[in-house]
Amino acid sequence: MSSVNNTISLIARGEGIPLGKPGRSQESCDDELAKGPWEFDLAEALAGVPGYGPGASNADLAPADIPRQGVLPQEYKDAPDEELFARILAAKEELGDRVVVLGHFYQRDEVVRFADFVGDSFQLANAAKAKAKAEAIVFCGVHFMAETADMLSGAHQKVILPNLAAGCSMADMADLPSVEACWAELEGLYGSSPDAQGRVPVIPVTYMNSSAALKAFCGKHGGIVCTSSNAATVLEWAFERGQRVLFFPDQHLGRNTAKAMGISLENMPLWNPRMPLGGNSPETMGDAKVVLWQGFCSVHKRFTPAQIEQARQDFPGVRVIVHPECPMEVVDAADEAGSTDYILKAVQGAPDGSTFAIGTEINMVNRLAAQYPQHTIFCLDPVICPCSTMYRIHPGYLAWVLEGLLRGEVLNQITVPEEIAIDARVALERMLAAKPGVNQVPFGQSGKAREA
Ligand code: SF4
Repeated sequence: MSSVNNTISLIARGEGIPLGKPGRSQESCDDELAKGPWEFDLAEALAGVPGYGPGASNADLAPADIPRQGVLPQEYKDAPDEELFARILAAKEELGDRVVVLGHFYQRDEVVRFADFVGDSFQLANAAKAKAKAEAIVFCGVHFMAETADMLSGAHQKVILPNLAAGCSMADMADLPSVEACWAELEGLYGSSPDAQGRVPVIPVTYMNSSAALKAFCGKHGGIVCTSSNAATVLEWAFERGQRVLFFPDQHLGRNTAKAMGISLENMPLWNPRMPLGGNSPETMGDAKVVLWQGFCSVHKRFTPAQIEQARQDFPGVRVIVHPECPMEVVDAADEAGSTDYILKAVQGAPDGSTFAIGTEINMVNRLAAQYPQHTIFCLDPVICPCSTMYRIHPGYLAWVLEGLLRGEVLNQITVPEEIAIDARVALERMLAAKPGVNQVPFGQSGKAREA
């Protein structure tokens, strides 16, 4: 099966080939995806306007201070893929155990093929920790993932993000000043004294997809980090210690998880950081159990109940699994919802000949389809629209940073200052220590397990 990027190039040339199943349309959301990301990096640097580049987040508003990538040397832009592949392999071979390359599930095939480990952000940060001999950890994912790897890896290890412009639009939707301003408003509303059971007014919970500064905020204020695998466990932990939760940055993961725990939508006000009291009345806030930050993932926002209906019409008996970053209506209409690891395990454990419609990033879905040909697997979204920021990592950048290491040069290092890392680790350690309760209710219609 053709890779997502090859297919996008073919579509741009008017020669699209099937990526999904017969009857599903072959278009990409942006012709610019067929170009090298350096074209966008350069245009952005020249214009002085940051953006997320082509792909699902292209229309999102990017904060002015997000990291930008400097110019990639011309030789890496000009080299054909085959040459880059050979150079990457040669550099990896020469570096041996001194380097470990990590590839996120959503990364393009042309990069993932060189990864020593492939997984979700937390699995990869732990994989880096296990490779103690590696002086350099090349993280082919996005910025917050590289920060987490830096905080969890050894002091002698340097974490490298091949393209600094590979951020995460969702993570950028909550920054420290806005969260601090929200916290001050919540304190004004609820005070800071515990109730009769010793529960504080609010526990901050941040999704892994957030900056190290926000993880540190949680560590400092009695809060915790969660992943899409353990969000229910983490919310249970939080409600044992607090009367309510401030959940950021992903409203959908927060809403889907809290709803599955039986919390009413009326008790989940949405917090718009640009409005006083988040755009809510004091009465609404008085009833709040989970205050949801107004953030979202533009990849997962693309999925709709109509796509699920269409998949069921086209493939009777199809098993629909979506990621909990999808909107609530989509999670409710799906058979199951779960993390990337949950989706992977569901495919691995299914009887041969199963059909899956999957609501997560296209690179992962396409790879599953190639790795498990005994099943029919396709992406719910018929339009090919990868994550804009994962797309910014191209084999040219990977070759550039690896050859830099051969010369003794550490390019694009991601470092979290120790004063931030100390508090952020507290929030991460709380997450690791949190244990699931016995009464967790799964997402989706079928009642299958959520925790992966
Ligand atoms: S898929 Fe969404 S949440 Fe994940 S890195 Fe891309 S924008 Fe961020």
